[in-house]
Amino acid sequence: MLSVQKVTKRFGGLTAVQGVSLEVNKGEIVGLIGPNGAGKSTFFNILTGIYKPNEGAILFEGKPIHTQKPFRIAKQGISRTFQNIRLLKEESVLENVKVGMFGQTRSGLWSALLGLTQAKKEEEMVTEKSMQILELVGLKGYEGEQAGSLSYGNQRRVEIARALVSNPKLLLLDEPIAGMNAHEIEEMGELISAIRTKNGTTVILIEHNVGMVVGLCDRIAVLDHGEKIADDKPDAIIANPAVIEAYIGK
Ligand code: ADP
Ligand code: MG
Repeated sequence: MLSVQKVTKRFGGLTAVQGVSLEVNKGEIVGLIGPNGAGKSTFFNILTGIYKPNEGAILFEGKPIHTQKPFRIAKQGISRTFQNIRLLKEESVLENVKVGMFGQTRSGLWSALLGLTQAKKEEEMVTEKSMQILELVGLKGYEGEQAGSLSYGNQRRVEIARALVSNPKLLLLDEPIAGMNAHEIEEMGELISAIRTKNGTTVILIEHNVGMVVGLCDRIAVLDHGEKIADDKPDAIIANPAVIEAYIGK
C-alpha cells in the first residue's frame, strides 16, 4: 500500500530524516518508535505532504505522492492525528469531527450552485457519518458537548474520530496515548485494534510506550537520529541490541 523509498529531509544543516525506506501492507498496524528527536513526526509530515523530502520517493497504492500537496494526499486516503491535540475547544464534539470531511464534499461555491436542498443533504450526510464514527470511537452521547470540556483521553478520541470520518485507507497516529493514564491507554489500544478490524484501515502508530506497540503492532520500525535502525516483528525488536542501545545505552 505504502512504499517509502530512501527519503531524506534536511532543515538547514540538520538532517531530521536520513535515507529512510518503509514498506507498509494493507491492513497492517506498523509501529514507529525511537527516542525524542529521532525524526518520527517529521516522517509523518513528509508522508502527509507538509514537508517535501529533499531526496527519495513515496508511492501510495503505486502512485507518487511526495510531489503532491497535502489536500491531494488526504483525498487519496491518508489521514492523521497530531502529537499535540488540535481541537476547536469551544466548538461541539460533533463540529470537530465534521471538520474532518472538509475538502471531501462539494461545499462552498458548489453548494451555492447546487442549491440549498442539495447542500443540506450533503450536510446531513456528513452529520450522519460523523455520528457513526463517534459511536465507533466510544463517544456516543458526547456529540453536543464542548470539545474542550472532555477528559484528555476523550479529546484524543475526538481527534481520531475527525481523522476517521473521511474513511481513510491509511491512518497515521502521532503519540495518541501521550499523557494518558493506564486505563485510557488500554482503551486506546482496543480502539486502534477495532478500527483495523471494522474498517480494514491500515495504521502507522508513533509511540513511546514500547509495551503498547509491542502488544498492538504487527511490525515495528525504529528510528534513531533520523535513520531507520531496525524493522522487524515486535519480539525481535525488543531483543535487538541496536534498539536497546538507542533507548537506554546513552
Ligand atoms: P520526533 O517526533 O521523533 O521526536 P521530530 O521529527 O519532531 O522528532 O524532530 C526531528 C528533528 O528535526 C529534531 O531535531 C527537530 O528539532 C528537527 N525539526 C523538526 N521539525 C523542524 C522544523 N520545521 N525546522 C527545523 N527543525 C525541525
Ligand atoms: Mg514527535
